[in-house]
Amino acid sequence: MRTPPIISIVVPCYNEEAVLSETVLRLGALLDRLEAACVVSPGSHVIFVDDGSRDRTWPLILDYASRDARMRGLRLSRNRGHQNAVLAGMFNASSDAVVTIDADLQDDVDAIEKMVNAYRDGKDVVYGVRSSRSSDTFFKRWTAESYYRVLALFGVEIVFNHADYRLMSRRALAALSEFSEVNLFLRGVVPQIGFESGVVEYARSERFAGESKYPLKKMLALAWQGVTSFSVTPLRFITGIGTIISCVSFALGAWALIMALLPGHTVPGWASTVIPIYVLGGVQLIGIGVVGEYVGKTYFEVKRRPRYFVSEVVGEGLVAHGRPG
Ligand code: UDP
Ligand code: MG
Repeated sequence: MRTPPIISIVVPCYNEEAVLSETVLRLGALLDRLEAACVVSPGSHVIFVDDGSRDRTWPLILDYASRDARMRGLRLSRNRGHQNAVLAGMFNASSDAVVTIDADLQDDVDAIEKMVNAYRDGKDVVYGVRSSRSSDTFFKRWTAESYYRVLALFGVEIVFNHADYRLMSRRALAALSEFSEVNLFLRGVVPQIGFESGVVEYARSERFAGESKYPLKKMLALAWQGVTSFSVTPLRFITGIGTIISCVSFALGAWALIMALLPGHTVPGWASTVIPIYVLGGVQLIGIGVVGEYVGKTYFEVKRRPRYFVSEVVGEGLVAHGRPG
């Protein structure tokens, strides 16, 4: 059994002024309780990552940090998206284990105790899995469900109903830092790390306050990234469709030739000429689009641009302007 770890709770925040005070309160109380129960060691803390918020999020973080040394913060130079904010927090932490959780407290903070216990039992990655999504809207549930199905269909290994609420040990984080993709899709990458992993179930509740920072457009972008980062199945799919269409056209060609040679027969005209032109045109355009998506991805990856820059920090042990993530 591992000794009680020093943990960092990483909280990405984008325009979260409405929820922060409650988040600080609940996470502070949780750390008090876990420390008293000797589940975690003293020195455990929270790292808020301000992902280029335009509201009072950063001044609030500074304020909480001045009152409680366990509340620490990183400020990114601009909005870089949830995944990068989480990475910035994880790579800046120097504790034994890092838990990542959203600022809006939709994920039950009490699951952290179970995660740490699983860590102490030897797990290097512990996934928080939603046992019920009854608090989400029907649309959100349906899209999420379809999303996991599509990923599975395309052969992406992923933990069902797990978002980015998870614990990672120091060595799992070291492994994660070896993945040098600029556009890291954490839910897909973390299972690739291996090591022993565990699952902790919790019920997801409603956003405590404020609005979702993940509108449909961002959700779709993340979903598409999940597919294209881990699978070339869409490319094979196109090859498959192309092969089928080619076979059918050869058969049609042979049929037309036979018809033309037989006396008294003509090949029927308009529909059989025009419809395939449109169908093939559409399929080709989609095909080019999908191939373009992968080419574009490669383009962004070869540029090796840094994922984020830390512009300011508050609290012990955090570094600004260090190695960019
Ligand atoms: N978030 C972020 N950068 C962004 C968008 C969101 O750091 O560009 C954070 C946000 O503050 C929250 C978490 O990511 O802590 C999840 O966002 P949200 O709760 O809005 O997503 P939902 O739960 O609706 O999917
Ligand atoms: Mg949320």
